[in-house]
Amino acid sequence: MRLNIAMDGPVGAGKSSIADAAAKRLGILHLDTGAMYRALGLKALREGMDLQDEEKMVELCRGLNLAVRVGAGGQETLLDGEDVSSLIRTPEVSMAASTVSRYAQVRRRMVQLQQALAAEQDMILDGRDICTTVLPDAPVKIYLTATAEERAKRRWLEMKEKGEKDTYEEVLAQVRARDEQDMNRPVEPLRQAEDAVLLDTTDLSFDQVVDRITALAEEARRKG
Ligand code: C5P
Repeated sequence: MRLNIAMDGPVGAGKSSIADAAAKRLGILHLDTGAMYRALGLKALREGMDLQDEEKMVELCRGLNLAVRVGAGGQETLLDGEDVSSLIRTPEVSMAASTVSRYAQVRRRMVQLQQALAAEQDMILDGRDICTTVLPDAPVKIYLTATAEERAKRRWLEMKEKGEKDTYEEVLAQVRARDEQDMNRPVEPLRQAEDAVLLDTTDLSFDQVVDRITALAEEARRKG
């Protein structure tokens, strides 16, 4: 059986960096599915399109020239052949990704792409609907979370390091706005799958979380 690890959780729970570290330890790939919605959001912003126009967004998604590959520094996201990996990390693109990801037909296309990639090789996928929709039969399913304040603090520190000027209060408001939009959308809202292991990282160190995930994966590997 494929060793696919499905991981969901809200913004700033640390999914991406945790998944990166766990994937390295296990010798498998990490697919950051949020980057795919971000690429679509970036494309829509660049084209000056109305993100609220569902039909236009679905059409844009259908024609999207998107590729993901694993490079030396982690996942590279290519839009129309251009490496947009850092350009998709701005707060504006984050919110745009959250908006375009509300549309059912956009989700269907992204889910198909993700399922095709996961069928080809062992990998850890992180997102919002991986345990519930993309890989409901994955041998390891995890819901990673932390309080909104803790998640905002981590994100704010990360942004500060990059020289960005947002205050903690602004980041907390962004985290809450995205939680609200992701958890209350009608199509595949973010929620913990019933059979996913809950990992609340508020009081856990980075290494403790990675240890826990790799232990779950090793156990699944043994069971084959
Ligand atoms: O994980 P990340 O913050 O990069 O995701 C950006 C946005 O993309 C999320 O706020 C969410 O709305 C959307 N997303 C999603 N399903 C996924 C991954 C991300 O709806 N599997």
